[in-house]
Amino acid sequence: MPVILAPTSENIALCAERLRRGLSVGVPTETVYGLGCDSSSEAAVAEVYAMKSRPQSNPLIAHVLDIAMAKKAVVGWDVRAQRLADAFWPGPLAIVLPRRAEICALSVGGRSSVAVRAPAHPVARALLEAFGRPISAPSANRSGRLSPTSAAHVAEEFAAFADLPILEGGPCEVGLESTVLDLSRARPMILRPGAITRKDLEPLIGPVAVSEIGHQGTSPGTSAQHYAPETLSELVDEKNLASRLDLLTERVAVVAFAGTRVPSHHELFAMPRHAGAYAQLLYATLRRADAAGVTTIIIVPPSEHGGLWDAAHDRIRRATAYAPRK
Ligand code: AMP
Ligand code: MG
Repeated sequence: MPVILAPTSENIALCAERLRRGLSVGVPTETVYGLGCDSSSEAAVAEVYAMKSRPQSNPLIAHVLDIAMAKKAVVGWDVRAQRLADAFWPGPLAIVLPRRAEICALSVGGRSSVAVRAPAHPVARALLEAFGRPISAPSANRSGRLSPTSAAHVAEEFAAFADLPILEGGPCEVGLESTVLDLSRARPMILRPGAITRKDLEPLIGPVAVSEIGHQGTSPGTSAQHYAPETLSELVDEKNLASRLDLLTERVAVVAFAGTRVPSHHELFAMPRHAGAYAQLLYATLRRADAAGVTTIIIVPPSEHGGLWDAAHDRIRRATAYAPRK
């Protein structure tokens, strides 16, 4: 198993040294845990793609300490980027702009752009400070699977990598991946919804478009099938739940609001009604449901919409877009 390290200054220095040697590190952020590597090293980036079995066309987000470091990673840092970073950094907003050579081509699937984000998690920031340069970090899970929101999840995902250090950062505060906003085009576009919503962005930069689910041309990780448990997962509206469950004789896991009525031979994985708490717990709950030894996971989409709920709906739709694999 990988080693989970307490985030002491010695361990942070050790991890920064690993990054300098072209190796990867498990790093907590406020969104999900990442698998970090040196953004400028094609060899380091290639290793991260290989560890995740991630298609090399799916670009990585470059994590930066602050605006000054972002400016070394991108060209065209304009007034919109400045306003957004002033308002939301450090935080869960990745901004796509044309890249500089500091960010290697492989890390962005050969694109001329890169998504940059300054994470708020103090451990991620300490690592960025110690390393001194951008850290490319995709979510620390095998490609297509659930993102990890604890150090133990990362250890599970990369069980075969005995020497991978993972910095302990506690459970992730946001729990869903960052908002990805493309500023490389004339009209800004949200490529992936997250905790920072269109309503948050528009007062600062004017109209923002939202890309349709499954449009994977510009943003491969946003394909319809993603963020999925290994167990066949199904989306069932609350009004159809009772009749769907009646048809299932084998025990299933139901991920739904606390208080949802579920016959006793099935198992309810109760979710909170508060959007922030729901987002925080979604992946950990899906992991628990995945480990429950059931043939099917049924997710009842929250009746709530808007704000963070939209990001939760987005991930739930993707989690249930798969064909069975077990
Ligand atoms: P992950 O690393 O798993 O959080 O996924 C990062 C996601 O951000 C990718 O799958 C893309 O959807 C998006 N992304 C990152 N960089 C770019 C970019 N340069 N252009 C468009 N989308 C990007
Ligand atoms: Mg990911």
